[in-house]
Amino acid sequence: MLINADLHIHSRYSGATSDRMTISALSIEAPRKGINVLATGDCLHTSWQNEIKTCAVIDDGTFEMNSTRFILSTEVEDNHRVHHLLYFPSFSAVDAFKESIKSKSRNIDTDGRPNVNMDGVELASLAKDVEALIGPAHGFTPWTALYAYHPSLESCYGDLTGYISFIELGLSADSDYADTIQELHRLTFLTNSDSHSPHPVRLAREFTRFQVQEPTFDEIKKAILRTGGNKSVLNVGLPPQEGKYNESACIACFTHYSLDEAVKRRWKCSCGKRIKKGVRDRIGEIATFKEPRHPTHRPPYVHLIPLSEIIAKALGQHTPFTQGVTKRWDELINAFRSEITVLLDADLTRISQVTIPAITAAIEAFRNHKVVIIPGGGGKYGTIELPADDTVIPLSLGPKDSQTSLLDY
Ligand SMILES: [Zn+2]
Ligand SMILES: [Zn+2]
Repeated sequence: MLINADLHIHSRYSGATSDRMTISALSIEAPRKGINVLATGDCLHTSWQNEIKTCAVIDDGTFEMNSTRFILSTEVEDNHRVHHLLYFPSFSAVDAFKESIKSKSRNIDTDGRPNVNMDGVELASLAKDVEALIGPAHGFTPWTALYAYHPSLESCYGDLTGYISFIELGLSADSDYADTIQELHRLTFLTNSDSHSPHPVRLAREFTRFQVQEPTFDEIKKAILRTGGNKSVLNVGLPPQEGKYNESACIACFTHYSLDEAVKRRWKCSCGKRIKKGVRDRIGEIATFKEPRHPTHRPPYVHLIPLSEIIAKALGQHTPFTQGVTKRWDELINAFRSEITVLLDADLTRISQVTIPAITAAIEAFRNHKVVIIPGGGGKYGTIELPADDTVIPLSLGPKDSQTSLLDY
């Protein structure tokens, strides 16, 4: 079977997260985004563990509420500020791992995403001891990522590099970016939301589709390791330009700079503040190849723009966090079951019977790749613009690419 999984979120026990991040809210919102499996995030945190334990137990490492499956995961920050993602086979593995890092963390009891005074090698070794999977989170972002601090996987994970089976691409990169780096070719790419809120513009804005026998931890582990016929079959995510750190830009006034210009200015903006190196430029520095070379196991990558962002633009609103946007989003989801269906598969004539012409036209513009993206940088998300002639609604879309159809999950 095919499942859609968002394997990186945070609970309300991490910093700067919504207090609506509860297991119950997530279990209701996930299917509306078309998601079958969420990784819990923050599973070292006792209060979050207790909340996960209110789910039905499917097996040692798989839990369920409102037909949404959960697997145990956490993110930790190491002593070089590199973020790592971990997936655990059971609560006893979580407990054993927590015990082994407890004395090296000042905030393991208070922060869902703890800081640990250990390096990547030590963390990978302890993860291996409890048979947890570990890999870099948002690998290329300029603040807290593997390639922000290290030139290579081995520089981070040393002798344990062979144990690393995946990298999370992060919002500002996609498979084309990452497959310019030869050492990543053997890894499975994960696309996850890193969401701090259950709002549909954030949750599952990126996800990975896996081919598995069952939606369980063991089966997803096999898919990440690409064994037993299991594998990832699709990565889905924002166009990289929508990410907060796509281009090099000032962290205060968000003026964008080319790499040359930023170097010439010694990474100082004309406003006096710092220019932060963008993911695009960082990958340009470490790339093995000028153009991406995809290994044969690499699945296609589909770029999605969150539906509520498209609706906000169609309504002429500056943010998707308004009642007007929510009302229109709900209308569409109630009619078509999930956001993915509305974005990619539902018939436009039927969409036009449920919503207003401007929104139908905006969805059509998205499907026809006519939405213009103004790149993000310096910590500010990219923004989208609809084409000027977006009131014309041609009803024939032509044949769909069956390989990337998202309907059959
Ligand atoms: Zn992180
Ligand atoms: Zn500036």
